[in-house]
Amino acid sequence: MRPFLDLKALMARDEHALHAAFTRVLHSGWYVLGPEVEAFEHEFAQLCGVDHVVGVGNGLDALTLILRAYRQLGRLAPGAEVILPGNTFIATALAVTEAGLVPVLVEPQESDFAISVAAVEAAITPRTGAVIAVHLYGRLADMPGLRQLAQRHDLLLIEDSAQAHGACDEHGRVAGSLGDAAGFSFFPVKNLGALGDGGAVATNDGVLAEQVRKLRSYGSSEKYVHDAKGVNSRLDELQAALLRVRLRRLGEDAEQRRAIANRYLEGIAHPAITLPSQPSWPLSHVWHLFVLSCAQRQSLQAHLQRCAIPTLIHYPVPIHRQAAYSELSSLSLPVAERMAGQVLSLPLYPGMPEDYVASVIDACNDFPHDESREGSCR
Ligand SMILES: *Cc1c(COP(=O)(O)O)cnc(C)c1O
Repeated sequence: MRPFLDLKALMARDEHALHAAFTRVLHSGWYVLGPEVEAFEHEFAQLCGVDHVVGVGNGLDALTLILRAYRQLGRLAPGAEVILPGNTFIATALAVTEAGLVPVLVEPQESDFAISVAAVEAAITPRTGAVIAVHLYGRLADMPGLRQLAQRHDLLLIEDSAQAHGACDEHGRVAGSLGDAAGFSFFPVKNLGALGDGGAVATNDGVLAEQVRKLRSYGSSEKYVHDAKGVNSRLDELQAALLRVRLRRLGEDAEQRRAIANRYLEGIAHPAITLPSQPSWPLSHVWHLFVLSCAQRQSLQAHLQRCAIPTLIHYPVPIHRQAAYSELSSLSLPVAERMAGQVLSLPLYPGMPEDYVASVIDACNDFPHDESREGSCR
């Protein structure tokens, strides 16, 4: 079986530079909140086109700390409602709960499975304080539409950019700069991945950045002086140094991801398979995942498995159907639910061998229409 994502090969491309970064940190004798984190924050802020980046422990903490900071700054009332899509990774909802706020799940739209501006608008109540837009699978959500809506209702607009490092709109504005604040994850499989956990908050709001900076380190900006009840959630010097190496490849990696996605979009043609739609502006999608829909997903997945092609499902159970959120179980979100039952992610990563890409296309096209027959593999 080939890999779904060949992380070892991705890292091997930078073996020497990663070793050098490791050695630099090893020999520095300084391992938490030092020059590497500072340099990475600066470099990543430049990439995102924002004034401030604060490195934190992981993507969940990035989102949680944004919301906690807004609460402490009086920008969100305790128990305020936060609107988010029902078809995201559970961390988006956990951040809301963790910050003492109330998650309100809404439907994605059929066309691209991104959060629907109309659904957000319909969910706004007097208690709504913020909207979290998720750039799901690496594709920018409708930020102009959401920004307008957020401004009209005086709501904070937060980006969950965990899957969309470097995605940019037709004006060159990059994920992380499109709302009031954004959370990023550097979990190894993300488009910009560390060799362990990592995350960051990006924002143009200096007051928010300062508060998050305090919160990540026990609520303190001066040793043993604590202005707020903080946490311990910091990006390590070591991970920051490794991320600085990986950051240099982000642009070319996105190009490679886009080229493979285009091969799939042009090469796969099957009546039972619905391909993801192309965004009108190609750079607004960094193809963290290539996700198709198929009503016979189980058979398609089994067929691909027989052809030695691994697939994954992002995500099989919507948030309101998770035991962890039993309080939301009475919700009905038919689009999100149908999506959970039909989506299937194909392998896609920078450096994916051409014959592997071709075999994925062939295997999809060879999926037997008649389910009683076993499909052939070339
Ligand atoms: C990965 C991810 C997160 C959480 O990031 P971690 O670093 O794993 O905590 C949040 N939201 C989305 C959409 C993600 O894909």
